[in-house]
Amino acid sequence: MLPISLTHQFADRLPELAHPWRAEPCPSAQLVVLNESLATDLGLDSDELAAESGVDLLSGAKLPASARPVAQAYSGHQFGGFSPLLGDGRALLLGELETVQGLVDVHLKGSGATPFARGGADGRATLGPMLRELIVSEAMHALGVPATRSLAVLTTGRPVFRHGREPGAILVRTAASHLRVGSFQYAALRGDEALLQRLADYAIERHYPELADTDQPYLGLLRSVISAQAHTVAQWMLVGFIHGVMNTDNMTISGETIDYGPCAFLDVYDPATVFSSIDSESRYAFGQQPVMAEWNLTRFAETLLPLLDDDPNRAVDLAKSALEGFAGQYEQRFMRGMYAKLGLARTPAEDCDEVRGTFSNQDAVSASWSQNLPLNSLVHDLLDLMQRRKLDFTGTFRALTAAADDELEPLRAQLATSNNANGECRTGEFDAWLERWRAQRPDASVMRRANPVVIPRNHAVEQALRKANAGDTAELFALLEAVTDPFTERTDRARFAQPAPADFTRYFQTFCGT
Ligand code: AMP
Ligand code: MG
Repeated sequence: MLPISLTHQFADRLPELAHPWRAEPCPSAQLVVLNESLATDLGLDSDELAAESGVDLLSGAKLPASARPVAQAYSGHQFGGFSPLLGDGRALLLGELETVQGLVDVHLKGSGATPFARGGADGRATLGPMLRELIVSEAMHALGVPATRSLAVLTTGRPVFRHGREPGAILVRTAASHLRVGSFQYAALRGDEALLQRLADYAIERHYPELADTDQPYLGLLRSVISAQAHTVAQWMLVGFIHGVMNTDNMTISGETIDYGPCAFLDVYDPATVFSSIDSESRYAFGQQPVMAEWNLTRFAETLLPLLDDDPNRAVDLAKSALEGFAGQYEQRFMRGMYAKLGLARTPAEDCDEVRGTFSNQDAVSASWSQNLPLNSLVHDLLDLMQRRKLDFTGTFRALTAAADDELEPLRAQLATSNNANGECRTGEFDAWLERWRAQRPDASVMRRANPVVIPRNHAVEQALRKANAGDTAELFALLEAVTDPFTERTDRARFAQPAPADFTRYFQTFCGT
């Protein structure tokens, strides 16, 4: 018997959004990865989770008596088109775990078709994509990016047919919650204001409890989600992460990055980069992500209008003014991160932000931030040079970190690999930039904490998954160890710091929901 108990607050308080359901039985579930450090953080015992009753729990076969698993209903704008009914087609919320950090959702993905599965979808998942989500979500967390976590991946013992026969698998995911913009769209669509308010109150209680006793809690909720997403997307842009499918059903209210199907990291810096096979119009290209986040937040604001003010015009004005804060907050967080990546000194704007708190007087903070022109142009000029010289994003920042310590060889090596055949970047241009930057006396210790050595490089992830699919998990565990300790430079992990061969990246594509 496991010492784990799950609450069912979502199921109790929002039954309109919760369809009671059970996991499909597995012929023979087996753990492939158990995230012991996350288990410990959640107050769970890894040995117990790895035992038979633990595996039964993680596969959804035998749940604690307190559990009331549900498939969650939500809507979503998918690539701009609205789907009124999406929901968990192959996932289950087992319940909420009470931890020292508050309630944490425990959720299965690949646990069998629910009533939300459409068009004969099988409700199942294969091993490769579930391991991929585990690798990337854990890497994101280690990089300091708000992200859902992965507690375990299991094989089900059932073959699943995708590109041929593949091992069926379940991912056990944890999250601050699985409330999404799409959850609010679903509630708003029903035209039931009491339901919408119950959902908003639940979101406030779980994520922004300080708002509960304020005069305008729902405006506060909108502002807080805008702020949380501005932060998260800025972090994506600072580590070169492309989400790939930023539909409103894949955007959380907590701000955590969620759903890692077609995501990938940049090698060469280019804002136009797209890896997803279905993003044919580049809607979710790397450089588009802040714009699309703002678009999704506008959809979120629309759902909240009835709660913002009884006067519809005034409600729209309030929503608009909150949304206007997004661009400035994003810019400020991105620039703050870029200053750290370049080891530049703290700025008056940053101090000002910390004193005032996140939500007050954003305009004044952003204005003083954007006036820091010499440093901002240093950032933009570097990005421009990196794009024109086709430089590796992560590798260049790490080479600059060495350069801040007067070790110029890694940077020379990066520049030597760059493709400058068409002469788009004049010789000496980079040296001129380097001189301007070094005149600012960059702090290498700040840079070492801001610039990862290892990210989940696409070719390394693919290779680890290929081997794991064939039953050899050694490379998977080596990669996991490296990406969850991303700022440490180790010679035995050097292969994970290497960019993909250009040919690999040219043909690399990612896929949704496989
Ligand atoms: P995603 O692109 O992973 O966010 O999924 C979008 C929607 O498709 C969600 O409603 C999923 O539950 C559903 N979905 C994806 N794959 C499957 C599957 N194999 N079976 C049933 N539903 C699925
Ligand atoms: Mg999704």
